[in-house]
Amino acid sequence: MKNDRMATARSKSVGNLAAVPMSTASAPPSRARKTPRVAADLAIHGAVPLFAEAVHVGRPNVGSSERFLARARDILESRWLSNNGPMLIEFETRIREKLGVKNCVAMCNGTIALEIATRALDLRGEVIVPSYTFVATAHALQWQEITPIFADIDPGTQNLDPDAVRRMITPRTTGIVGVHLWGRGAPVEELAEVAAVNNLRLMFDASHGFGCSHGGTFLGNFGDCEVFSFHATKFFNTFEGGAVVTNDDRLAEKMRLMRNFGFSGYDHVIYPGTNGKMTEIAAAMGLTNLEDLDDFVAINRANYGAYRDELRSLRGVSMLAFDESEHNNYQYIVLDVTPEFPVSRDRLVDALHAENVLARKYFWPGCHNMEPYRSFYPHAGLVLPHTNRIAERVVVLPTGSSMHPDDIRAIVSVLRVLASSRTA
Ligand SMILES: *Cc1c(COP(=O)(O)O)cnc(C)c1O
Repeated sequence: MKNDRMATARSKSVGNLAAVPMSTASAPPSRARKTPRVAADLAIHGAVPLFAEAVHVGRPNVGSSERFLARARDILESRWLSNNGPMLIEFETRIREKLGVKNCVAMCNGTIALEIATRALDLRGEVIVPSYTFVATAHALQWQEITPIFADIDPGTQNLDPDAVRRMITPRTTGIVGVHLWGRGAPVEELAEVAAVNNLRLMFDASHGFGCSHGGTFLGNFGDCEVFSFHATKFFNTFEGGAVVTNDDRLAEKMRLMRNFGFSGYDHVIYPGTNGKMTEIAAAMGLTNLEDLDDFVAINRANYGAYRDELRSLRGVSMLAFDESEHNNYQYIVLDVTPEFPVSRDRLVDALHAENVLARKYFWPGCHNMEPYRSFYPHAGLVLPHTNRIAERVVVLPTGSSMHPDDIRAIVSVLRVLASSRTA
């Protein structure tokens, strides 16, 4: 009787799922109040802010709530909440299909995924990383008492410079963690060569790069393994979540066990493991958002185009370009505020914050200027000149499925007024 009721309820919710339209994501109406034209129109000079509510960088992209809720109902009715449930298995399958990679091990967040990958690769001693990245790239190593060694970036791409990596290698070095910053592929071929010549493991922090390609191959297929973050602020989210993907079956198997305390069957533990499991509700969010991924890309791409068109005529700032011959998620609108721009980067950010546009100074001031690294290596900055300079100049602007192109035009008009006003 009870089983019958469950079966009916389940088929009903699956029926609902099929009836919900696949795609509901589209740009919302514009929220900007006005287009500032002169200095007196700016909020830093006392005018009403451009936006009534804060406009954030990384406001979550959310797919169909009906589809998500139908899946949530299935989870509750099945009582299967975690531990390799049907949602997780389907989610890992869809990720593998999407990226063309052999293995996906989904996890509770990107940081734990980095830590498990580092353990599974048997990294120890020193590991070379960029300093110009989110601090979790370094912390994931430090948390396991591996010493992150910071190498400089190529100022043109803002990605790790393979020559700088070579210079940081010592007898204690066991690996390299590259980052595909802003979703633009790191120099994977050169880094693979550095790793091969020096007998090092190579992995990538691909937290920014879900759905992005390098040489036509999706990120996720390079190095020994690659790590994604599916945090709420990322292009593709599962509330919190992450994954390690790899074409190495044995490595994947090791990480599957490590994700679940090292259990290989009931009562049998063969590794020091941790709890890195992704919950069923997170996987359900992932399945739902995957269905709307193409819409998110389309919206981000349109926003990127609007920013590019508006910024083209503005001297002293340049926007980081995405290679249109690759797959991109266009999640980060990255401005380089050069010394030619009439106001400083920090003044520009203050002016935008006054308008309720919460632009960010990612990844200022660089990991080497944050604790504990700042105390460990007080002179690290001497070998990181490009990191220091770029971190002083970059501003990341809001985009995503809650932005309208008119909002973007209004935001850029703030920059235009700053650029032309002597009193700004
Ligand atoms: C977001 C991010 C992480 C951390 O991922 P979480 O899922 O938040 O733990 C690591 N590295 C980079 C580059 C990131 O942007």
